[in-house]
Amino acid sequence: MRTHPLGAFIICDDGLDLRLHTATRLSISTAQILAPPATHRTAEYTKMLKEKFEHADIRITVVFCGFAGESYADIPTVKRTIGLVPEATRSERLDEARHISDFAKKMDVDAIGLHIGFIPEDKDDPVYADVIAVARELCDHAARNNQRVHLETGQETAPTLLRFFKDVNRANLAINFDPANMILYGSGEPIAALQLVGQYVKSVHCKDAVWAKNPGLEWGEEVPLGAGDVNMELFLQTLKEIGYVGPLTIEREISGEEQAKDIEKGVRLLNSLVEKIWGEKND
Ligand code: MG
Repeated sequence: MRTHPLGAFIICDDGLDLRLHTATRLSISTAQILAPPATHRTAEYTKMLKEKFEHADIRITVVFCGFAGESYADIPTVKRTIGLVPEATRSERLDEARHISDFAKKMDVDAIGLHIGFIPEDKDDPVYADVIAVARELCDHAARNNQRVHLETGQETAPTLLRFFKDVNRANLAINFDPANMILYGSGEPIAALQLVGQYVKSVHCKDAVWAKNPGLEWGEEVPLGAGDVNMELFLQTLKEIGYVGPLTIEREISGEEQAKDIEKGVRLLNSLVEKIWGEKND
């Protein structure tokens, strides 16, 4: 297998078989999955899920946590509802994330991922210390399962993320770098951000977006890979410069036929760029 295999973000619901079939057809050999709900994380379901991915010859690289009550309706709603930052749901979501870590271990996956929420830019904000404490608890639980914890980028600037990593001070805390999120949330130029936090990047989303008129106040727009402001060639070139080795996981946050078409085009674009930059052909 090449050092930068393609990946897809796969949701394990009723459409799973079709998604696995599409991924196999496109020679996608890795996947990040969204953790199934607690009611599905049984021994029987876990075994069935493992077998489906093994049969499709797709290796799961990260299990992502999603939490009840989260909403991406607009940026203020994201601030209010996402991840481990909102205090009212913090402890129940920490429990849920721990369960997902245990589920990922049973699936033989060595990383969990999540949007931790908007980390305060001001280190004297009392929430900042609380978020450090909860991140440490989750990292320590994951470490007992021999896993890393990947934080998805986008909701804070790269300098804030860098400081947060130093303050949490856990060897298994890592970054899932999503360049499009930096644009969607208006949290900074993605390439410069990648250069700054590169040492922590252990997985990436290949996603594209165009800037909003008023970045940070309103959403940018997610678009097919190569059609946005990320500059995919420069993104992959920068991944090479920081020494990133790992999957290139395509994320396209729409559904249905259009999603499948865009992913197929994304695969073609990434295959040609991987060959150009790393000299590796898809296998
Ligand atoms: Mg993403």
